[in-house]
Amino acid sequence: MAPNSPLQRTRQKLRAAERNVGQHKESLMEQSDRERKRQWKAQQREAARASFPMSDGLMEAFFESVEGSVSEIGCDHSLRFTEQWITANQQPKEPLIEWLRENDGFCDCEVVANARDHWEQNR
Ligand SMILES: [Zn+2]
Repeated sequence: MAPNSPLQRTRQKLRAAERNVGQHKESLMEQSDRERKRQWKAQQREAARASFPMSDGLMEAFFESVEGSVSEIGCDHSLRFTEQWITANQQPKEPLIEWLRENDGFCDCEVVANARDHWEQNR
């Protein structure tokens, strides 16, 4: 058989087509994998957002205030600035404190570093 007989060319084309199908299947699987991950992340974010104890506007004002006090005066390993803000802004204390604890905000500097980070990433 000559190296470039019609039959051989057809076989080459067939092999190339099979390779294409294989690659296409693989990329479809990657896509659905990515899609599942994306959906899972979106659900996580949705759940995180649903558990925010206050509106985004209040959360922002709260973090700004605590951050300002911590950088000016420092953290004394309590939630004193957090509690001061809650009192000054007449917000329900327990839901916010509990949410802060769940997000590693056990003192004012952790509120700014950890809880704020969690909020920023999910808002
Ligand atoms: Zn601290």
